[in-house]
Amino acid sequence: MSQYALTEDQKALREATRKFAQGYLVAAAAKTEREGTDFPVSALQEMAKQGVLGLDVPTEYGGQGLDTLSCAVILEELAAGWFSSTIFAMNLATGPLLAAGSPEQKRKFLGGICNGTVVPSFALTEPAGGSDAANITTRVTREGGEYVLRGQKIFITNAHRADVIIVFARSSADAPRGKGISIVLVEKGTKGLQIGQRFETIAHTSNPIWEVVFDDCRVPKENLIGGEGEGFSYIQKDFAKIRACYGSRCVGVAQAAIDYALQYAVERKAFGQTVASFQGIRFKVADLITKIEAARQLSYRAAALADEGHAEAPVAASMAKIFASQVAVEATGEAMQIMGGHGLLKLHPIERMYREAKLFEIGDGTSEVLKLLVSRHANRRATDRQPARVD
Ligand SMILES: Cc1cc2nc3c(=O)[nH]c(=O)nc-3n(C[C@H](O)[C@H](O)[C@H](O)COP(=O)(O)OP(=O)(O)OC[C@H]3O[C@@H](n4cnc5c(N)ncnc54)[C@H](O)[C@@H]3O)c2cc1C
Repeated sequence: MSQYALTEDQKALREATRKFAQGYLVAAAAKTEREGTDFPVSALQEMAKQGVLGLDVPTEYGGQGLDTLSCAVILEELAAGWFSSTIFAMNLATGPLLAAGSPEQKRKFLGGICNGTVVPSFALTEPAGGSDAANITTRVTREGGEYVLRGQKIFITNAHRADVIIVFARSSADAPRGKGISIVLVEKGTKGLQIGQRFETIAHTSNPIWEVVFDDCRVPKENLIGGEGEGFSYIQKDFAKIRACYGSRCVGVAQAAIDYALQYAVERKAFGQTVASFQGIRFKVADLITKIEAARQLSYRAAALADEGHAEAPVAASMAKIFASQVAVEATGEAMQIMGGHGLLKLHPIERMYREAKLFEIGDGTSEVLKLLVSRHANRRATDRQPARVD
């Protein structure tokens, strides 16, 4: 049984991050959403100053060097202020670099990612493969001293402003499923790298998603991360950490939505009493904060299991993300309901949270795909006559 009580240091980090998120990030989110602009460079600089970039990157590369539980605590608070900030605080692109990057690759990119001067993108999804990532068809071939990329990616966050893109591509056509995928670094301005159409979304508009085309895109052979065909092995070991922390991000948004609506409801009057005093509202709020707390504890425990290197940490993390994303969708919708017509106004952050929560059930592993992992674990345990739980 994992211990996951927060230390005094983690509580202090939580307080400091909450202050920053509820002050600076809440205001930056409102302004950026209103103006429809990209996530501002100034916000990245403020996050760097606050020490909330590169949370999981070791200090020797310029990061914060935090364990997964501390990352989860901080991401929860950042998400409560502005979910869009969290993709910079802990970026998917750093995982392969840390797992298999050469000293030169780490030196070149990690420091900038951690101080906000380098924007990375993570390019895995293709028209033929989102959940079914093993089905990607973008090819990478070695030609002399170079690797050449040919193919197309879609839904790539911030590709238009990325200084470096971490690209997953097939280096072997006949490798068994899940093998034969390599990871290559492509820097901004590389010949043959084309940023195509922007996909308009209902949320996360400050981190827009793009088509990326590789038209005989040539990079030096030194841009391969790790070994040829080993790409997936470098991200699989991060799944527990990433999904436990995703659970915490969902918790942050859910908590922020309910707190905002409740603070409105204790003031708002209808039929001579405050909205917060109606029994129908009180029961709703009690149910929601109970679910949010359950989602928080699931996420923290999954984070602690990831820190322990527990064999079933990826299962616990999947459970956390499945549940917390569902709670975020429910909580943001109910927060809007509690505020009545006012909940729909752009004046309040609830309508943004309501829109952004839907991604949580889709990004970084859809709920359905994660349920496959959880049920596989349950069936394995049943075969061994063990209870279907994470011990
Ligand atoms: C805002 C946003 C940002 C994104 N950023 C990035 C990024 O930076 N980089 C990147 O590479 N990708 C990114 N993506 C892509 C995202 O990771 C994919 O959309 C996601 O993995 C799902 O893939 P898909 O859209 O192809 O859906 P599909 O895989 O086509 O799934 C469609 C539906 O089928 C279900 N399904 C699929 N397989 C199964 C199964 N075996 N059993 C049961 N149900 C199943 C899914 O759960 C889903 O409900 C982003 C997407 C969005 C919306």
